[in-house]
Formats: sequence, C-alpha cells, structure tokens
Amino acid sequence: MRKTKIVITLGPATSDLEMIKTLIVKGVNVFRLNFSHGTHEEHAKSIHKIRLASKELGREVAILQDISGPKVRIGKVAGGLKLQKGEMIVLAKEADDNDTHLLDISYPIIVDMVNIGEEVFFADGTIRSVVVDKSEGKLFLKLLTDGVLSSHKGVNFPKTKLSISAITAKDEADLAFGARHDIDIVALSFVQTAEDIKKARDIMHKEQFDAMVISKIETSAAIDNLNDILQVSDGVMVARGDLGAEFGVTKLPRIQKHIIAIANAANKPTITATQMLTSMKENPFPTRAEVSDIANAVYDGTDAVMLSDETTIGKFPIQAVEVLHESIKDVEVNYPYLKEFKSANSSDAVAKAAVQLSASLQKEALVAFTTTGYSAQALSKYRPKEHIYAVSHSLQTHRRLSLVWGIHPLFVMESLNNPTRLLYHFVKKLLDEKRIEKTKRFIVTMADDQGKKGSTNIIRLLDKEAIDRVLSYEF
Ligand code: PGA
Ligand code: MN
Repeated sequence: MRKTKIVITLGPATSDLEMIKTLIVKGVNVFRLNFSHGTHEEHAKSIHKIRLASKELGREVAILQDISGPKVRIGKVAGGLKLQKGEMIVLAKEADDNDTHLLDISYPIIVDMVNIGEEVFFADGTIRSVVVDKSEGKLFLKLLTDGVLSSHKGVNFPKTKLSISAITAKDEADLAFGARHDIDIVALSFVQTAEDIKKARDIMHKEQFDAMVISKIETSAAIDNLNDILQVSDGVMVARGDLGAEFGVTKLPRIQKHIIAIANAANKPTITATQMLTSMKENPFPTRAEVSDIANAVYDGTDAVMLSDETTIGKFPIQAVEVLHESIKDVEVNYPYLKEFKSANSSDAVAKAAVQLSASLQKEALVAFTTTGYSAQALSKYRPKEHIYAVSHSLQTHRRLSLVWGIHPLFVMESLNNPTRLLYHFVKKLLDEKRIEKTKRFIVTMADDQGKKGSTNIIRLLDKEAIDRVLSYEF
C-alpha cells in the first residue's frame, strides 16, 4: 500500500466511466473537479460517474470541488500583443479599443489599490512590469521583460494587498451546487487571510455543506498569513502555478518546503500541485527532473500530489498516474518515518505514544476508530512506517481520509460507547470479510466515549490471544 496519496483533475481526457474506473484501480484517491471550467451539469455528471465507478469497484474515493475564486485576468487583446522590455503599457479600469497598449482587467477596482513602485505580472508571471505612474483609473506600467500577451491572461500583484473578496458571486453559486452534490472536500482559490476562509465557511454553513476545507496557498498574502489560515482550514494546497507566477519559479522549492513543514506540524493535510508531470501531456514517460520533483514533494512531507493538465487534456493520463504511484512507492522505501513533533493535546499525545509503540514492537498495523477523522490524522502526523487503518463512524469521514498520508480507510462502522463491544464487532467484521489475517497484530487507539473529537484515551494491543479473548465476549 502506498502512503502518499494521489489527486487527479478530471477533464475531457478522463471523464468516461471506464477511464474513471481504471484510474481508481491504478490508485487515484481523490478526484478534483475544477470549477474554473465546465458547467454545473457537466460536474454533476462527473460526480455521478465517480460514485458509480467506486461503487462498482467497492472502493471509496473522495471528490474535491475546486472553487475558482477571484482570479484576476486582463480583458480582450487584439491578436497577440508584442511587448518589449522598457516599453510602457497602461492598466485601466475601462477598456479603450483605440489604444492597443491599454489593458482592462476583470476587477477594475484593483486599479485603485495598486501603488507606484509595486509590481504587476502577466501570463503566469512570464511578463513582468512595475508601476511608474498613476492617474485617475489608470496605472502606467514599465515592462521589465519582453513577451507576447493574449486575451484573458492572468494578472498577479505580488506586492499589493488586494482588498477583494475571496468569494465571488460565482463561487457562492458553486458552493450551493457543492452542498447539493455529495462533495467531500472544497478547495478555495486565492485566499489571502483567515477571514476569507471564515467567509466561505459561513456560506457553506448556511447551505448545510459540511465538507473539508482546503486553502490554496497561491498569493504572497497567503504566505504572510499562513499560520492564521491553517488554523481555520482543514488542509492546504501548495498551488505552484499561481505561486510561481507571484514569486518567480526559482523560489518555489523553498516556499513548498516552508508550507509543508508548517502544515505538517499543525497536522493539516497538504496537496502539492501543478506541473508535476507536464511533459506527460505529450509523452508516455516522464523526465528525470519531474520524477525528482515528485520524490522531493514526498520527502518534504506532502500528504498528496496532484495532477492537472496531465489528466484533463493530456494524452497519457493512466501512465501519469502509474508514474506517480511508482515514484512514490520508491521514495517510501527510505522515507524519513517517525517524525518528531510536540503533541498538541492529550489525544494527539496518545497517537504519538501509539506510533512509538508500533515502532518498538514492529510489524504491527495501527488502527484508529474515528468519528471526525482526527484520531487517525493524529497517527499520520507522526508518519509511522506501519499502515494506519481507519475505522470511521461515517461515510463522510471515511471518504475524506482518502486524502491523508498513510491512512487506509478500512470501513464504516457504527459508533458504540463501549470500547470492548466496538472491538468485538471490529474483529468479527474483519474475520467475516476476510479483510485481514487473524495472525496480524494491531495497535488500536480508541475512546471510552467514542464519538467526541479529541476524546481518544485508550491504546490496546491486539495480538492473537487478545483477539480470541475479544471474540469470546459474545456481544
Ligand atoms: P489552479 O490552482 O490550477 O486552479 O490555478 C493550482 C495552482 O495555481 O497551482
Ligand atoms: Mn491557481
């Protein structure tokens, strides 16, 4: 079993049922639906197909809804606008068809927020400029690079604090859709502050939408506010596409390590995304550099790696998933297991002790009975070498845990407040379903009062004798 998880983005290249089934068999744990593209009707169809495929295969996966957020784009440009270093262009609130060097943007109000001396980047950061002058409704930009600009390219303002809402009207409609369509995880784009996530959660709360919330870290403001953002998020994405545009690609490895280290310590799952296997859009094999990049993300401690174009429009989506799987498996041969962290609370300390116990007793699998997923995630935080089997008390938790490093969501079982009875039913189910051999030994974490977050207070060693004893109780 592989411990680091695989997220893929569904698109035209991967949207038919057989393909989805193949991808699940190849080991995809989470399917991402990118709401920057496609209609609600198309996404509803995809959700239906994913659930059908996983039902037919008897393997649950999670569905991630990626909300597009306030991505800033330029308006229409006639043809390809050739730009030269040193030349001036204008970014204006209003379009002017007579001026070829004047660009308008999707959020005109931003023009007022940018100051002289701040930078403006276009087209994934490939075309860079600096504001040298400002007048009513206009920014005068001096180009720092050459380049060709076409319509609707993205714009980044790395040095500017943008006070635009992270949740647009479209995002609200998309969240309402998500609430009605069996979504497990929501990813929020272009968040800048913890307030942005709280706002999204308020909207979700009104819609009775209880999905896991992943904040995409893709602006410099989000890096500045990372700790606060993590506190109110269930996880983060290292969104290297826009991050690279904002900071320049050469700073990405350091930023990636920084985000993952902080998220690992806070016990929040991370997804490392974008351009992991770009060359495989056209080729059935990866470059050496791409495989190294995957391996580094895994060594850094990411919970999951993600594919975008490779699986939406690429020619070799299955091969790309195979390469991810094989590369991850190889890293896990000498992965830096048993990470040292301060424990955050008593249930986290119990998890830490259970992981230490599993290391000294060896060959044990860890088992967590979990309601919210927290106690299974607490085991994952310490990166045990052994597998973590999660027995969830709801399908929702069971699916969400697909994203988390090292956790194998085993099955869903009713929560019981008698630990011995719970163990009895667990062991019985394992044996009845021939899921695990009886000779295997487990280390189980559970709670007297199963069902409350943070109530884990029991570690049980379940060896052959203990299993026989549990079975003799006959509930
Ligand atoms: P996107 O987010 O693909 O939605 O832009 C990921 C990234 O920016 O890397
Ligand atoms: Mn992005």
